[in-house]
Amino acid sequence: MDNFEYQSILNFIKELPNDEACKAYLSKIKWSGGFICSKCGHDKGCEKSGYRYHCYKCNHVESSTANTLFHKVKFGLRKAFCVVFEMSTSSKSVSSIQMGKRFEIRQGTAWFFMQKVRKAMKSSQKYPLSKLVHVDEFTVGGKEEGKQGRSYDSKKKKAVIAVELSNKNQIKRVYVKAIDDYSAKSLPPIFEAYICKTAKVITDK
Ligand SMILES: [Zn+2]
Repeated sequence: MDNFEYQSILNFIKELPNDEACKAYLSKIKWSGGFICSKCGHDKGCEKSGYRYHCYKCNHVESSTANTLFHKVKFGLRKAFCVVFEMSTSSKSVSSIQMGKRFEIRQGTAWFFMQKVRKAMKSSQKYPLSKLVHVDEFTVGGKEEGKQGRSYDSKKKKAVIAVELSNKNQIKRVYVKAIDDYSAKSLPPIFEAYICKTAKVITDK
């Protein structure tokens, strides 16, 4: 039943097929400029299993989700990415009850997480991302196959995700926005609205 919608959205971010991939993605961004320990500021360490980093100086082990929205989410990173995506792309606001059903998350848990996301989004609009901003693109949405009488829009969508890093390489804020395409026309408005002109923007392309 509702599982069905859940499946079609979970088809979404092709580049992030599971929780591990989400973790890998966060770690790639977080340490894109090299490792800096969030506890002592030391810059020598080694990567451990599970996309964590071990500081040689103070032995602090940091996960890729530490200091991000996604830290210790109980329902898995992939669902958390989905919720953020849903919230930033749907034109109608989705309630925590609907969101909970859609992703099989307890309503209270969904509500709590959505509050965190809202706060982060608000702050991105009010205070555009500055300093170091990592921008990536995703293709979202699956095929329509097997769809019966549901009005959920599962057409392929594209999204841009902008991640702000602090000078300690900590992920500070994340902003996700749906776009029509990756053309030069679609991207600049996002940059103008959410990213400071003085920010250093890193993209894979
Ligand atoms: Zn350290």
